[in-house]
Amino acid sequence: MQPIIVFTFDDQHASVYDVAFPIMQEYGYRGTNFVNSNALGQTGRFGWDELIEMELTYGWETGGHTLNHEALNQLDYEQAVYVIQQDYNNLEEHGLNPRSFALPKGQCPSQVYPFLRSLYKNIRGSSDFAMHEPLNRHALGYLAFQTGWTAQPVKQRILRGIANGERLIIIGFHRFNAESEGYMDSCSDDVFRDILRFVYDHELKVLPLAEAVSED
Ligand SMILES: [Zn+2]
Repeated sequence: MQPIIVFTFDDQHASVYDVAFPIMQEYGYRGTNFVNSNALGQTGRFGWDELIEMELTYGWETGGHTLNHEALNQLDYEQAVYVIQQDYNNLEEHGLNPRSFALPKGQCPSQVYPFLRSLYKNIRGSSDFAMHEPLNRHALGYLAFQTGWTAQPVKQRILRGIANGERLIIIGFHRFNAESEGYMDSCSDDVFRDILRFVYDHELKVLPLAEAVSED
């Protein structure tokens, strides 16, 4: 069986909606947004309207990512629970269906995990590793695209996953077309297209995270 590919988009960058979303549409692919609900609509970020459109009209997934991208390991337990729970509530109150959570900066104190697991079925960290059956849905990894990369590291990662019989490969993006602004996490639209074409040509299944991990 071929690995399922998941594309995640963190931190509600406006370019996810303006650049990546239309390209995903060209291929009929749906992704997962991990958003900080208090930061929606801020300068350079897309807002509630775009988020709701992507999930409710186009079938994307919306995942939690704390209210304001708080570093959970720098908060006490009550504060950490608050920024996770309020973020979840904000998404639900807007008619969204959050089932996945991405750890801001990949960090979470062990005492906060039981609370996170009580709210979310799927938890994504920030390091990349092979994910075979049976999946640990509460400790998922991902490959984060870095400024300056061509499509090659992503293609190689996917080919390795195919060769190794991995069940799931998550490729994560942040900004698009912002390489010249000095950000470390930007992908050009050309490279993004190149990656999607590669996935398409290999006839790999692409799904939002919650659907990918619930498939048998
Ligand atoms: Zn983030």
